[in-house]
This record gives sequence, structure tokens and C-alpha cells, in this order.
Amino acid sequence: MKVLVLGGAGYIGAHAAKALARRGDQPVVFDNLSAGRREFVKWGPLVEADIRDRAALDAAFRAYRPDAVLHFAASIEVGIGEREPVAFWENNVAGSLGVLAAMQRHGCRNIVFSSTCAVYGEPEYLPLDERHARQPINTYGRTKLAVEQALEDAARAGVIDFAALRYFNASGASRDGDIGEEHEPETHLIPNALKAAAGIGGPMQVFGTNFATRDGSCVRDFIHVDDLAVGHLLALDRLAGRRESFACNLGTGQGVTVLEVLDAVGQVVGRPVPRLLAERRQGDAPELYADIGFAREALRFTPRRSSIQEIVQDAWRYHEPRFRSEAA
Ligand code: UDP
Repeated sequence: MKVLVLGGAGYIGAHAAKALARRGDQPVVFDNLSAGRREFVKWGPLVEADIRDRAALDAAFRAYRPDAVLHFAASIEVGIGEREPVAFWENNVAGSLGVLAAMQRHGCRNIVFSSTCAVYGEPEYLPLDERHARQPINTYGRTKLAVEQALEDAARAGVIDFAALRYFNASGASRDGDIGEEHEPETHLIPNALKAAAGIGGPMQVFGTNFATRDGSCVRDFIHVDDLAVGHLLALDRLAGRRESFACNLGTGQGVTVLEVLDAVGQVVGRPVPRLLAERRQGDAPELYADIGFAREALRFTPRRSSIQEIVQDAWRYHEPRFRSEAA
């Protein structure tokens, strides 16, 4: 299968491109490198362009004739979405509409879309299943919901078939240390905790310690990025096998608290994580974890490397040499 991987130079997209290549499919990465990294593009050609560039999309579809699209390209930093909503809507929603229009022009039917558990908003019940109401509470989640709705309309009209994969907390790194999570600025829990444990940049902040959870800190569902990548392959296969669109959670179904993550980081690094107990971060739900019954049943999806210890070990293997060179 030839697959156009939009945002394939990013953290999750690059893992998916690698997984495709490993099983003999052909990824073509399309990425503007605004957040993606050139060194993460190793498993196929790179088209360096923006999804809002209609001519560039047309040229890529003409040149490579992809059988399917994996669509990771988006603005993802929740805080920036609140400050710059128009730019978020432009990139995430207008950009995705351009992708769908290009697929239609070029007769490409199947798309796997990177959605998020943020489409659910505040949980009305747990674990979150795919039937839970979609009431996102931030711009990021609303842009992802808008694209899901456009996909649903297009699928109803018989124009495309889609899988909307609602990720919980993507984390970890590839086992051989070639792709990992790096954002500038870094806001994610595990990279920040590793940094603090490595003695870089002072203590990290724990956002909220008085939630009604087992230890007072937030509960999240951490899924290893390699498991996520496999989820995309399974979704592609299901789309190719039957012309039926679907939305699907990708998580582990297990909630882990922020303080439990810090314990795991301390064990892996061999030093406790220096921390400051801070106020809650605006918009953080106390608990988010997935019901992955549908993924298990429809995709035969099983998380294989998503214990918090394995996730932190792989993330540390990726970050440690980089921290050392940063410190030097
Ligand atoms: N968190 C934290 N300190 C940090 C970064 C994150 O306490 O430096 C907490 C955050 O409040 C949330 C959890 O860790 O409860 C996961 O946050 P992250 O930003 O990694 O992912 P999110 O769940 O927001 O997508």
C-alpha cells in the first residue's frame, strides 16, 4: 500500500511511517517541518509542503497516487490554541478540508485521521467510550471535532471512508531511540519529568494535588507511541477490507496518576524527580481513561508496550543522550 503520511515528520506520524515501511508498505511523508523534524523522515520520500497548499497537495497526489492517507498534520499545543484560535482553525480545520477536497479530486477514498480524547471534554462517565457525548472544552478539541464532523458528512455522502482515532496520552519513544517526543516549549508530563530528574532547568510543576483521585493528582491513560502506530496500520487494514467508517479510542484502558508517573521516572532515572506542587492547570479534567473495547474487537488492537515503566524507559533512552549534550 502506498500511503501519504501528512505530518509524517512529527512524533506520532514518524512512528507510523516507520511501522508502514517495516511491514512493506510505502510511506510518502508530507510535512511543512514547522514542528516535524527532517531527521525523523527515513522511511520514504519527503514532500516539504503545507496541507493548506492546494497545488502542493495536487502535485503529491499526482506524483505518488497514494492508496490512502494518514493525517497527523495539525497544531496540537492546547495553550496556544486558546491564545491563537483562528490560526488553529485555519491549520486544523481549513487544512483538513483541503486534504479531503484533494482526496476527492484524485479519487483517494481512505483516510485515518488523528483525533483526540479531547473531543469528549469533561467526562460524564468513565471509562470514556466512543458513544460518550462530544463536548470539547478547548479550541484544540473543537477543531478536531469539526474535522470529525466533516469526515462524517463526507462518508455519509459516499465520498470517502475514514477512521477517526481518538488518542489518549501518546508517550514513550521508539525502542532503538531514533524517534521521540520533543516540543518547543515542552509542556508534556513525561519529557518534563525526565528533564527535571536529569537536573535540567530546575524542578517540574505538578499541576494540582487535590483532585478527587487516589493520590490527589490527575489520572491519564498513557499509550506507547509504537502501540499507537500499530493502531493506525490496523485501522488502514479495516478501511481497506470493508468500506465502513468508524471512530475508535486508542489508549490502554488503564488510568495512571501524575504522581505514579513521577515515581516511574524516578525509578528509571535512578533519582527522584524534583517537583513543585502547583495550582491546577486550566481545563485539566481530573481523570481521563479509555474504554478500548471497540479497538480490541474491531481492530484486534492490544497495547503491547504501554506499561508506564516501559513507556518511561523508552522515553528516557531517547532523551538521556540529548540531555547530556544539552548539559555539556
Ligand atoms: N502535568 C503536570 N506537569 C507538567 C505537565 C503536565 O503536572 O509539567 C500534568 C497535567 O496537568 C495532566 C497530566 O500531567 O494532568 C498530563 O499532561 P500532558 O500535558 O502531558 O497531557 P494532556 O493530558 O494535557 O494531553
